[in-house]
Amino acid sequence: MKSNMNLSDLNENVWSTNRYLGMLRHFHLDLRLNFAVKEMSGWLVLDLVPVQPGVCSLILDSHPSLLIHSIDCKVPGAGQQEPVSLTYRVDPFTDYGSSLSISLPTAAAKPGRAVQITVRYTTTDGPAIWWLDSELTCGQLRPLVFTQGHSVCNRSFFPCFDTPAVKSTYTATVRVPDGVTVLMSASRSSYSKQDRVFQFSMEFPVPSYLVALVAGELQHVDVGPRSRVWAEPCLLSCAVKKLGGSVERWLGVAEDLFGPYLWGRCDIVFLPPSFPIVAMENPCLTFIIASILESSEFLLIDVIHEIAHGWFGNAVTNATWEEMWLSEGLATYAQRRITTEAYGNAAFAVSVTCLLARF
Ligand SMILES: [Zn+2]
Repeated sequence: MKSNMNLSDLNENVWSTNRYLGMLRHFHLDLRLNFAVKEMSGWLVLDLVPVQPGVCSLILDSHPSLLIHSIDCKVPGAGQQEPVSLTYRVDPFTDYGSSLSISLPTAAAKPGRAVQITVRYTTTDGPAIWWLDSELTCGQLRPLVFTQGHSVCNRSFFPCFDTPAVKSTYTATVRVPDGVTVLMSASRSSYSKQDRVFQFSMEFPVPSYLVALVAGELQHVDVGPRSRVWAEPCLLSCAVKKLGGSVERWLGVAEDLFGPYLWGRCDIVFLPPSFPIVAMENPCLTFIIASILESSEFLLIDVIHEIAHGWFGNAVTNATWEEMWLSEGLATYAQRRITTEAYGNAAFAVSVTCLLARF
């Protein structure tokens, strides 16, 4: 798939997905979810460090569905206390996104000096965000929303460097109505019932496409020391019964083959049939379609495949969208190794049959 890696070639002082001009150290999302109007609104804070001198502007991947309200900048340690408002421009770029060009102040152009850019925005009807009315959920009682970033959709979730080459840690604060549970692809989370605020922290660097969120009526059961199954209440007992203690077993086999599992948590959330793909390897929290529970073989193969991405694709990631076959190819190889170790050669044959049926 085409990417915007060549945007930075337009001007050598324009910082876009060219990671040699600067580094994205961390970003923070602060969002309020509004189910009534199907919008997320809030702000994104990017912690950036220019590497080269003279960087005069920044280009982020964005999307026509993102409404940008304002952008400001702070340069800690530069004698500037208050944020400075920045000028910006949104231009059409491709049929799947737009470019957000931000003019940087001269104080931000010093290599090694941290810059904090805050973008206030609202999401509308973008391809990354799937708002489901209650009728489209399994329980049909409450609405649900999830995001699907792969491959170039998360630019409609938040402005970003939407390339697998740029990784960073992230944190998020998500405000929701009472009764809604929020999950993200993060290694730590907490919830303040009084404020109805969820806090997330991903302590390991990830590319933009692996940032994921789901919010709805979700409950969980622990199925292992580091794994938990999440689902709507009407699905939960079936999902737990089908997976049982298998997740920890598969993790153990994979660790024997490929080394320690880096991500800490290995949770799984089952999503309604509107989920557009079978499963997504969001780190710490695999997203998987609930209809897969009808086939024990597909469930086994797909969960093992997403676990394998914990080593191949998520920990070690291809640099460009064109090389995504490396992530999928190595994860498929690892999936078959894990399946064979856990269940023998007969299971390997089932794995191949399921894979062929899937395509
Ligand atoms: Zn895969």
